[in-house]
Amino acid sequence: MNIIRIKKYFPIFTTHKNLVYLDNAATTHKPQCVIDALTAHYAERNANIHRGIYRLSEQATESYDTARAQIARFIGARDASQIIFVRNTTEAINLVAHSYLRHHAKAGDEILLTVMEHHSNIVPWQLAAKEKKLTIRYAHITKTGELDMADLKKKITPRTRLIAVTHASNVLGTINDIAAITRLARARNIPVLVDGAQAVAHMPVNVSALGCDFYAFSGHKMYAPTGIGALYVSKKYLTTMDPFLGGGDMIRSVSLEGATFQDAPERFEAGTPAIEAAVAFGVAADYLTRIGMKNIRTHEKKLTALALKELSKIPGITIYGPTRAEKRTGVISFTSQNIHPHDLASLLDEQDIAIRAGNHCAMPLHTLLGIPATARMSFSLYTSPADIRTACRALRTIVKKLQ
Ligand code: PLP
Repeated sequence: MNIIRIKKYFPIFTTHKNLVYLDNAATTHKPQCVIDALTAHYAERNANIHRGIYRLSEQATESYDTARAQIARFIGARDASQIIFVRNTTEAINLVAHSYLRHHAKAGDEILLTVMEHHSNIVPWQLAAKEKKLTIRYAHITKTGELDMADLKKKITPRTRLIAVTHASNVLGTINDIAAITRLARARNIPVLVDGAQAVAHMPVNVSALGCDFYAFSGHKMYAPTGIGALYVSKKYLTTMDPFLGGGDMIRSVSLEGATFQDAPERFEAGTPAIEAAVAFGVAADYLTRIGMKNIRTHEKKLTALALKELSKIPGITIYGPTRAEKRTGVISFTSQNIHPHDLASLLDEQDIAIRAGNHCAMPLHTLLGIPATARMSFSLYTSPADIRTACRALRTIVKKLQ
């Protein structure tokens, strides 16, 4: 991968020449092809979809359907109808909580999560649990920040109605063995939801090989616009789920007494969707495929190994999560003795280095780690080894000065 050439393809780095952007877990920047796709859609194909008996509307519909097929191909879904367009990972998970869990769980049933989940993969279940009187159980992590598979296995019971787990932690970087979890679940006929927000842009993902029933992810974390994401649903559950939101486009017929509904995916896509964002999402997926997800994973693994090495040389720094790059994505959370993560982040910002500080929407995990906040660096395909060296050098100087 030619990082200099790739970086030039992301206009933000021309506008902000000295920017060292290490907040890719929050959102990624957009390549020229994605920006062009948005402009071209509005300039050439803008119309509402599905309803028009005129060519422009048919073209817009065709673009939207093409995007669905591109996303299906990108994650190895067998059929484009298994992809439901949503706003983001959060909405995808809420959709499953609403359309699947609320209608299939009874009082006393259980949902199994892990303690490393983002709030998006906790709060929707808490809301459903409160309403339906369900119990939430949490699988723990080991001392090295990996999922404790023995604990997870122990917490699966005859009342477990769903296992919801992140593919990669947005704090620890830990990559979870989803195939092993789905093997356990399948034997007990339990569906598995995977929060793919921190995985899809960083490693090859094939939902068919993973064997999961739901896979949720956001476009904006994989070089596509905000306001678009996707939920993959296995055939087994696609036909048994109830509608999510009600309104136009998701119905077959409506009378004053009631309504009948479309099949998936339209059944779950009420109202006018983010058409141009979906189109650009498809373009982003094809862009990643052209670069190659294996190449991206190899590149980011090297960056992670370098960052782990450089950070561990700085006195007083504690790194959270697995120590080996093979076990994690390019997300590294750390603390520095006596210096608040927010201070680290704002002092780095003075040098045009963007990192994140806080609880990263994973308060339960931070509580468990016994810390209120961490500083977090996260990488992407345009991150260079020089970016990491620059950030670690600046960090070392700050730490030396303040400690
Ligand atoms: N899950 C994980 C692991 C995340 O890191 C994030 C965002 O940071 C989300 C879910 C929520 O993503 P979004 O805000 O795009 O819905």
